[in-house]
Amino acid sequence: MITSAERIPVAGPSITDREAELAAEAARTAWYANHYAYNARFEKMMADYVGVGHAVSVPHATSALHLIFAALGIGPGDEVIVPDVTWIASVAPIVHLGATPILVDILPDTWCIDPAAVEAAIGPCTKAILGVDLYGSMCDWPTLQAIADRHGLYLVEDAAEALGSSLNGRRAGAFGRAAAFSFHGSKTVATGEGGMFVTDDPELNARVLFLRDHGRKPGDRFFQNHEIAFKYRMNAVTAALGIAQMERIDALIAHKRAIYGWYHDRLADMDGLTLNCEPEGVSNSYWMVTAVPCEAYGFDKFALMAEMERRNIDTRPFFSPLSSLPAFDAHPEAKRFVTPNDCGQFIARVGINLPSGYNMTEEKVDIVCAAFREVLAGGRTHRVAAE
Ligand SMILES: *Cc1c(COP(=O)(O)O)cnc(C)c1O
Repeated sequence: MITSAERIPVAGPSITDREAELAAEAARTAWYANHYAYNARFEKMMADYVGVGHAVSVPHATSALHLIFAALGIGPGDEVIVPDVTWIASVAPIVHLGATPILVDILPDTWCIDPAAVEAAIGPCTKAILGVDLYGSMCDWPTLQAIADRHGLYLVEDAAEALGSSLNGRRAGAFGRAAAFSFHGSKTVATGEGGMFVTDDPELNARVLFLRDHGRKPGDRFFQNHEIAFKYRMNAVTAALGIAQMERIDALIAHKRAIYGWYHDRLADMDGLTLNCEPEGVSNSYWMVTAVPCEAYGFDKFALMAEMERRNIDTRPFFSPLSSLPAFDAHPEAKRFVTPNDCGQFIARVGINLPSGYNMTEEKVDIVCAAFREVLAGGRTHRVAAE
């Protein structure tokens, strides 16, 4: 059995002395008049990189999404159409606001929300559409925008997994009315925990600044709260880590793309195995290399993970459809457009994420791919033997 001598983790950041030094500097100096200086720098770097007018640093992508939907006025009685297959953080804020997420299928190649399924789910209560750029793939934003315009709906981008990806020369985060990024330790740019709201809309930006600081008007020195709102601000030390990461963004994305290339070189020849795609016009920043073996291999994702685990290799399951999770047992209305034939149901049953952290080397990818091929070959043998 091919086994890695050292454990290979599935995700993790690239942290250099520069990150540590800037964080220490912020801990010493980001006080008094300087208390927002690191946040402001990080926000400017993000807005410039994404190519939008405004960015607001927040504690996580979850809070950025909460602020976006709150600022758009999403509330009880409203429906937001979302992909069934995503991380639950995309959708939880909608429920927190008293609105209903409406789960719809994803596309077989990009694994992003299916515009035709979106259109079929639009009803009198629909207020918004949420696209999620899954694993670094880009949604079909032009089609989604056309649907949103035709029906008078807000379009929101969850770009938590897609910093550095682009579609037709436009970067992830620049689509829809507003977008959210995550800097969780597993993400493309990592600050441990952290997030960013970005938009080109000055009014929405002003509303988010107001909502994220307990309903105070910008510059308020009299502590006058005009609404019951939220407290979603990023710590300055976190912002300093983000600045140091953004200084290296091109190298970070290049490393992610190199990791994907190593996997692609070693796995692309396998029949019935699908990897992340990069359609015409897209540059994919490949947050996580993802492999979807066809059913003939005879594995579900949890069995695959267990086999890789035996070989000392950490993997992750493809996000399970939200409609399949116990958390949605109490939300049957969210699932009314989901069917057992949805392509998301199939992909999410068999897909896994392969180790994609910044500590991956070509040698480690060699071991992971050899182990993965061995596991998949074993599955076929078992199946044939059983028949
Ligand atoms: C990671 C992630 C989030 C949440 O990010 P946090 O910073 O942990 O709140 C939201 N959506 C998607 C698609 C994610 O992968």
